[in-house]
Amino acid sequence: MNTHELWQAALAELELKLSKAHFTTWFKQTFIVSCTEGDVTIAVPNSFTRTWLSKKYQRQITEALERALEAPVRKIGYEVELKTPDPAPVIFETVQKAPVPEYTSTEDLYGFSTGSSTPVQDAPRGNVTINPSYTFDSYVVGKQNELAHAAAQAVAMRPGGTYNPVFIYGGVGLGKTHLLHSIANTILRNSPNANVLYVTCEHFTNDFIQSVRSGRAKDFKDRYRNVDLLLIDDIQFITGKEGTQEEFFHTFNTLHQNNRQIVISSDRPPKSIASLEKRLLSRLEWGMLVDVGAPDLETRIAILESKSIQKGFPLGKELLHHVADRISSNVRELEGALNKIIAYHQFKNLSPSIESILPVISSLESSAEQKTVSPKEVIKTVTSYFDIEVPDVLGKSREKRLAFPRQIIMYLLREEMRLSYPSIGTELGGRDHTTAMHAYSKIHKLKDGDEKLQRDLEVIKEQLYTGA
Ligand code: ADP
Ligand code: MG
Repeated sequence: MNTHELWQAALAELELKLSKAHFTTWFKQTFIVSCTEGDVTIAVPNSFTRTWLSKKYQRQITEALERALEAPVRKIGYEVELKTPDPAPVIFETVQKAPVPEYTSTEDLYGFSTGSSTPVQDAPRGNVTINPSYTFDSYVVGKQNELAHAAAQAVAMRPGGTYNPVFIYGGVGLGKTHLLHSIANTILRNSPNANVLYVTCEHFTNDFIQSVRSGRAKDFKDRYRNVDLLLIDDIQFITGKEGTQEEFFHTFNTLHQNNRQIVISSDRPPKSIASLEKRLLSRLEWGMLVDVGAPDLETRIAILESKSIQKGFPLGKELLHHVADRISSNVRELEGALNKIIAYHQFKNLSPSIESILPVISSLESSAEQKTVSPKEVIKTVTSYFDIEVPDVLGKSREKRLAFPRQIIMYLLREEMRLSYPSIGTELGGRDHTTAMHAYSKIHKLKDGDEKLQRDLEVIKEQLYTGA
């Protein structure tokens, strides 16, 4: 048996044991360089793979080799070597010249990075859609997301290289968008002139349709086919949109051929995206396919700790454990719970304890069977929160102290109760539906940049649903 056959035999066994994503990611470009007296040297495409194989798969590799060899393996070494040299992505020269952070300890790779948040100081210019606070530093790594995190880092360090595309999938609120932005932030930091484009699938679709309609299809092509890094979030929405799929297919091919990096997220693996064209499906499965799962308790505690410090409201170990234990669905909900706890305690001017967080936590736990409220209750809760009278808020006066709470009521009727704009108008003393629309969009917009307003809303909802 020559080394090639030996490795094929070992790979066949490894393939059975590992998920497809892990297998292709880590073993795709490997081969045996030498094998003498139980000393095996394996060639890997980059140092990143070397670290990963030696730290994570050493035992499995040894076992597979021993079974294939029918002899004990004494030592396994790794050599970074490329069979076919990686096409040098010219456009990313600056990225490659920048010092590439090498993992030096297992700590770096697997330790919980509790994320001292260091937002990118000079927020990327012209890329307003990229959130500077979504960075690798602020991303907490646990077992369920370590592969996705590693893939994202690998690609941020060497875009357009071995892993293209990277396809990250997993349920809502598990940090996919955060990872996409982290890649963009890292690349832009290393290479400020890189042409980075982050879009949601929805945006891509609308942009495409608009450009076709207005006869500017060429602009669209220029925009999407000349980028260095294209990040498409929530690709599952491409289902059933044939024209968009076609366009995306060509965009994909052009970028891929030119060694431009593509990163995609989805709430499910490519295979499970309904009515996806076969040729597009195969493209999506070309590169690295990684999933993110729901975090375990330990990771949830680490995330909660990191977020509570970021928000300037650190919680003690016991409280962190308590909250993370009770809120287990996803990270977004965990963060929501933390926001509510902060709002509640700041509003009541309490310092947090197991007892004091109880009402907040229990309202969240039962949110599935959340008490249903009526428009009257919304009006009553908001008016009492702002200390004004119901008839005044329903009346004609445009005084600011009345107008703002009135808009909040309209916002909540829409956001929480999904009332139509005309019915909201009616509930508010017979106002026009355009007034309701205006109020909704105003509060919706304001909310994003206004922490005070966010907290007001949290507390109002709290009172609404729990009667607290
Ligand atoms: P998805 O795109 O998978 O639905 P997001 O990336 O929007 O999820 O994450 C939801 C929220 O949870 C964001 O505020 C994000 O910062 C946070 N989050 C998710 N995973 C992590 C993590 N591992 N570490 C830190 N924050 C996280
Ligand atoms: Mg997302």
